[in-house]
Amino acid sequence: MIRMEPAPAELGFDLMEPLRRHWGYEEFRPLQESIIRSILAGSDVAAVMPTGGGKSLCYQLPAVVAGNTAVVISPLIALMHDQVAQLSLMGIPAAAVHSGVASNEQRDTMERARLGEYRLLYLSPERLARQHTVDWLKEVPVGLFAIDEAHCISEWGHEFRPEYRQLGRLRQEFPDIPIAAFTASATRMVRHDILRQLQLRSPQAYIRSFYRRNLRYYVRLCDTKTQRALLLRALAAHAGENVIIYAPTIAEVEDTVELLRQNGIAALPYHGQMEAALRKRNQEAWMSEEVPVMVGTIAFGLGINKASVRAVIHLSLPKSIEQYYQEAGRAGRDGEPAECILLWRKQDAVLLRFFIEKLEDKAEQDRSWRRYREIRAFAENEVCRHRQFCSHFGETPKWDQCGHCDICGWKPAWLEADRASLPLEPHTIEADAALLAYLREWRRAMASELAIAAFIVLPDASLADLARKKPRTREELRNVLGIGERKAEMYGASLLEALANYSSAAPPSFAPPQPAPPRERKRTPEAAFTVIGLLRDGLGAEEIARRKGLKPGTIYSWVEGLLEERKVSFPEGWVDPERRRQIEAAAAQTGLERLRPIKDALPEDFTYDEIRIVVAHLRGLQGVA
Ligand code: ADP
Ligand code: ZN
Repeated sequence: MIRMEPAPAELGFDLMEPLRRHWGYEEFRPLQESIIRSILAGSDVAAVMPTGGGKSLCYQLPAVVAGNTAVVISPLIALMHDQVAQLSLMGIPAAAVHSGVASNEQRDTMERARLGEYRLLYLSPERLARQHTVDWLKEVPVGLFAIDEAHCISEWGHEFRPEYRQLGRLRQEFPDIPIAAFTASATRMVRHDILRQLQLRSPQAYIRSFYRRNLRYYVRLCDTKTQRALLLRALAAHAGENVIIYAPTIAEVEDTVELLRQNGIAALPYHGQMEAALRKRNQEAWMSEEVPVMVGTIAFGLGINKASVRAVIHLSLPKSIEQYYQEAGRAGRDGEPAECILLWRKQDAVLLRFFIEKLEDKAEQDRSWRRYREIRAFAENEVCRHRQFCSHFGETPKWDQCGHCDICGWKPAWLEADRASLPLEPHTIEADAALLAYLREWRRAMASELAIAAFIVLPDASLADLARKKPRTREELRNVLGIGERKAEMYGASLLEALANYSSAAPPSFAPPQPAPPRERKRTPEAAFTVIGLLRDGLGAEEIARRKGLKPGTIYSWVEGLLEERKVSFPEGWVDPERRRQIEAAAAQTGLERLRPIKDALPEDFTYDEIRIVVAHLRGLQGVA
């Protein structure tokens, strides 16, 4: 069994090369490198980093460097899904096992995991609670257990998840494998709880400051009428930018969307009582920037991965400081300035108290009262907002005044400005903004071509860097933030062409650039990626061929290749199980080298297409055996 050998840091893994090659980043963010080196040295790690700090890289990169499998425990299927898609695009083998995956695909994934094929394997905490899963993992070359959102293990935290308690078993079951816990929001008490529950062994602790200098806080107690007026002004100022609005109840989500619509601002609702498909569609529309404003209850945003949110506006008092820090913290993950606006009303406090009084569990009720008092104090104290957050999380900042919160004298520009003058921003950046819009269009086209979310194609930070650097060659493209080897290969031609068209024509209104030609018979990486997606959706060869404007035979031959390379699991619906069994039996007699003898050994009505893919699957299995 492959294990991550304890390697002293001075042994010096080259971390820059993979960082640049796969991720397309030039440097580490604070603490990332130290955390990665601790993990590679076999230590347990506890890391507290604010949202946007770059936690995922900390467990992804060690697995890539060590060539073993990091098992990531994550509470959210959507997040697992996004990360697997992102890693796959970067050419890093990854998979997720959770209740949303079809059972044959799960079996296939589990088998491949045993063979050590994945660098990253995402599991839900419920999975890990099963003995069956533990037994399986013992056969997988696991080098690390990474616990994402580790504060969910603590009852003291604001997002306690009972399933997380099961993670306490990890230490007993896998005494030799390091555990790394990551969280963005943990008070001292919660941190202590995490170490204890996970039984971390002399963990290397890393805490990055909770002070997020690019966030501007503005808190105001108001009545509903003022709240609405301020909301509209804020949105006018942020027109065209990504904004999240949090409303306390489903009814208020709906009302707010309606209010915005009446004022000519397109916005989408998101809450727990919507039909799942619609909720998903709305989230995607927001993610892909079709509609930049989302109005949600707290159900929205967990696990969203959008870095360029310019404002988060709360229409009521959150339940706790942690909750507010986390939700507001979804703004400005790209490090650019962003506004966090809390417009609360006295009636929200009444509602919160009402719910707390109804709690039956005494201990839970006590904790809720404590949180309530803290958030009230946060809103009402005349103390720097940034400072209050830092002290809440156990930090003692050296400064008293941050200079960019309402207490320290900062005010949103839209509060002072006359409405009519609002949209007039500095026009020097206009040219760039147009290029950025053009690149977004390119990304949208590519995303729909690949059938994935836009932010997975390329993050906003990459688009901004593209607009800045305007690369003309592949080499220049590789210097763009977030474009690693694989993405340069996948998008290179299409992106460079789009950029060239833009600079030569600079059209006032442009047609979206065509992504890499899909009609080619050759299996490009993009084509493979789309086909993999369509296979996952359970489509047949004919339907895929129709969508891609190709012959079914071409699709069969691509899938044949993908199966041999073990990039997809067997498309179950494509061959009748009994016929598949017959083909396998024939192949067992004749060998896998040539198709002809297999065809001859079978009844006449067997087609080459079905034989090809069954055999390709067997070849794939044999190739790694
Ligand atoms: P977290 O989970 O801590 O909120 P993520 O891992 O999602 O943060 O990273 C936040 C953003 O920062 C992502 O868009 C990610 O691609 C980017 N990022 C992470 N590390 C780096 C780095 N070293 N250089 C540039 N961007 C980075
Ligand atoms: Zn301040």
